[in-house]
Amino acid sequence: MSIGRGIARSELQQRKVEIGSGLLAMRRAGTVRVRAVAARSGAVPVVNATGCDRGPQWKVHKFGGTCVATADRIEDIVQFLHTEDTAEKKLAVVSAMGSHPTSPTKVTDLLLNMIAKASKKDPSFDEDLDALKEKHEKAGTALLGKGADLDAFLGELDADMDNLRAMLKTFSITGMCVDAYEDYIVGHGELWCARLTTARCRQLGMNAGFMDAREVIVVSPTSDGQSVDIHYDASDAKLDAWCDQHGTPDVIICTGFIARTPEGMVTTLKRNGSDYSATIMGALFRSGGITIWSDVDGIYSADPRVVKDAVCLEKLTYNEAWELSYFGAQVLHPKTTIPAMKFNIPVSSRNFFNRAAPGSVICRDYDADALSGEFGVKGLATIPNVALINVEGAGMIGVPGTAASIFGAMRDANVNTIMISQASSEHSVSFAVKQSDSSKAVAALRRRFAEAIRSGGIQNIEAVDDCCILSAVGHGMANQRGVAAMFFSALAKANVNMVAIAQGSSEYNITCLVRQQDATRALRAAHSRFYQKSLPIGIALVGSGLIGSTFLSQLKDQWRKLCDEYHVDFRILAITTSKKMILSDDGVDLDNWRANMEANAVDLDTDAMADHLANSSIPNTVVLDCTASDDPPAEYLNWMKKGVHIITPNKKLNSGDLTRYKDVKKQQRSSLTHFFYEGTVGAGLPVIFTLQHIVSSGDKVKRIEGIFSGTLSYIFNTFGSDDRTFSEVVIAAKEAGYTEPDPRDDLAGMDVARKVTILARECGMDLELDQVSVKSLVPEPLQGVDSADEYLRRLPEFDAEMQSLLEDAEKAGECLRFVGVVDPINRKGSVELRRYPRDHPFASLSGSDNILSFETERYNIQPLIIRGPGAGAEVTAAGCFSDLLKLASYLGAPS
Ligand code: ADP
Ligand code: ASP
Ligand code: MG
Repeated sequence: MSIGRGIARSELQQRKVEIGSGLLAMRRAGTVRVRAVAARSGAVPVVNATGCDRGPQWKVHKFGGTCVATADRIEDIVQFLHTEDTAEKKLAVVSAMGSHPTSPTKVTDLLLNMIAKASKKDPSFDEDLDALKEKHEKAGTALLGKGADLDAFLGELDADMDNLRAMLKTFSITGMCVDAYEDYIVGHGELWCARLTTARCRQLGMNAGFMDAREVIVVSPTSDGQSVDIHYDASDAKLDAWCDQHGTPDVIICTGFIARTPEGMVTTLKRNGSDYSATIMGALFRSGGITIWSDVDGIYSADPRVVKDAVCLEKLTYNEAWELSYFGAQVLHPKTTIPAMKFNIPVSSRNFFNRAAPGSVICRDYDADALSGEFGVKGLATIPNVALINVEGAGMIGVPGTAASIFGAMRDANVNTIMISQASSEHSVSFAVKQSDSSKAVAALRRRFAEAIRSGGIQNIEAVDDCCILSAVGHGMANQRGVAAMFFSALAKANVNMVAIAQGSSEYNITCLVRQQDATRALRAAHSRFYQKSLPIGIALVGSGLIGSTFLSQLKDQWRKLCDEYHVDFRILAITTSKKMILSDDGVDLDNWRANMEANAVDLDTDAMADHLANSSIPNTVVLDCTASDDPPAEYLNWMKKGVHIITPNKKLNSGDLTRYKDVKKQQRSSLTHFFYEGTVGAGLPVIFTLQHIVSSGDKVKRIEGIFSGTLSYIFNTFGSDDRTFSEVVIAAKEAGYTEPDPRDDLAGMDVARKVTILARECGMDLELDQVSVKSLVPEPLQGVDSADEYLRRLPEFDAEMQSLLEDAEKAGECLRFVGVVDPINRKGSVELRRYPRDHPFASLSGSDNILSFETERYNIQPLIIRGPGAGAEVTAAGCFSDLLKLASYLGAPS
């Protein structure tokens, strides 16, 4: 990972803008007439009798593609301008017709696609052109009705179509298209839409003028060709000329997106540029306010399509909006705020389809009370599909001009750098470029540094492909301690690896690079860390038998309290049985999960379940394996590699194959993926937790001895307490529901042997289950009998043997107990029937209690004893619950 005193490039650009705007800043006071502001000389604006009326009486609207996607929608905006908006003077910038279910392709996309097709000699551009024509003819007819207005519109449309067809034909013959022609063609969407809108406004009697922004806005492309800078003086002059020619209508309908260079060539403001057109127009008119109308309620704390819980921000500073849009928030073109900032014009981002919503206001002043996430983080955004270029070499240390050479090479190769990070050792410089520029950048650098590579001064120039930039932005982040730590730890906990980090010195943003495949997860994790009061954790309950369903009912009872008081929001994202499953995006309703299972369960597919967790909008997810089966443990490692945590009372992994167990533990240690299994020994008793603390705090375990089986605890606590024979006690235990359906499963000692193995491994012993010596209480001749009934019927035959063992013990003042023993000194584990004196803690056990005694170097004279109910669904589910809470606190839930 590259960490450095990096600087996000947006900031460099922004500083340039601020310097410029300082020189140019002028007061907006009442109506002014401005003729070619001699801004750079700092001269006072020239007031002239001709030109345009400027001033705050002008209100600028920008209608995005969705707002003008159909004739009906254009009608709506026209009606809005006509009746709803009460501004004295207004200018509406319109985009090209956008997507709508009846016509899903955006006009601009279609135009670009046609150019690409023609340049590849694909003749089907012709059909696309027909479709485009038809779309606008239909819209025109619906909007304008038959008559002169429509005829005029269609006349211009036909002429344009003829020109476009001819141009595209040329591309298809030559197999190429130059940028200037592309810009000329692609701007037609805006032209057609603005013409239609103007014609309809006029039909309603509005004093409406059509403005082709190419007659007014003058821009030149930035050196990297990725963006454009405005020429205010020239544009101001052209605006005056436009007004001289057209007068100053009350309503101007203006094309978004298109402009001209100082040389008079047609150009565009780049994709999504209509937002920028609107603020340029706002600046040229010294407007009182600019509203960008779209299909979202405003600027959200993150892309609402990706982050469901994103919140709509009420207020942002220009800088915040700038940084968010620069770092990928599609809702605004990155340069949108610059012209508005220059003249201190507020910009609103609003939803045309929900005008009741107030939207987001972007203005100069920072409002500390405005809604933001923790640490003043306003929003998070991503730039997908970038590559990190690393230049490494000891020869760069202390050599002036290395960075200049690197970025000079990038400029010469026409590669835009999005983010720069330099480790303070100066041993490496890393920077992000668009993925499509990756090989070009590496090749250019290898050429530029060929000599240094030969001499060994530079050892490595390479690209890390398929990355995504993730930025946290907010004015209030400045001077805050812990914001970066919180950001990065949220990513780490969501199993996201950072490839590089940069923080601008303004501290308005922290930026990092993650792998593209982790981008959504990273964005969601960071957003939930800064914005959510409760930490969401998604759970897949694998196995909805007795323990699983008990857990669900415990969760149901506790859920509200966990949310409100402990700020943990557990959501059940999946429930499975051995054959079926249900998946849920937001969390299964705990009141009727059974009915939901019955009605909606599909066939079990554990891969699909794991992917559902890994791709969930909830960044932290866990599998709770409440089965006793071997199948889920076989998947633990895969699931953990996907970043899914595991919690289980299932003993099969921890007492199963040692290599598999070690792989899982290794994965746990090498990642931040957790694996908790408190319920495997002693159910809810804090056995594993205690032992792990004994070991990790440096104590040495000498011996663990205990009654780990509730069933066998009950049997031996009862046997000898009255006159009943051993077989009678076993039958009574079965009838009382203490045993497995076949009591031999308990009496054979295997369950205890598994627990011995688990505890032995916690003590650092490499013990396999079959190395545990087990005294089975199932007499040899009964081990093979077919049914439990047969076993129980014949068990009395062996009562005498047990009776004599009991009597021998009693004669010596002792009792019989069936215990597990872990002996780290001799590296052995065993399950034994042992005798204990009457005053031993094991002798006084009652019911089905478990008891464990830890003899260690520190607990030497008196062992550490844990005792209590150690079996049963309630306490086992409670053990899982406590593991879940432990997980929540590891993941950052407040303590
Ligand atoms: P228009 O065509 O109106 O210009 P865009 O599609 O360019 O609209 O931008 C609006 C879209 O931007 C929204 O529909 C939303 O999905 C997306 N978007 C991405 N990031 C954000 C964000 N932080 N806040 C709001 N919208 C966002
Ligand atoms: N129509 C142009 C585009 O799609 C500009 C815009 O909509 O803002 O990029
Ligand atoms: Mg847009």
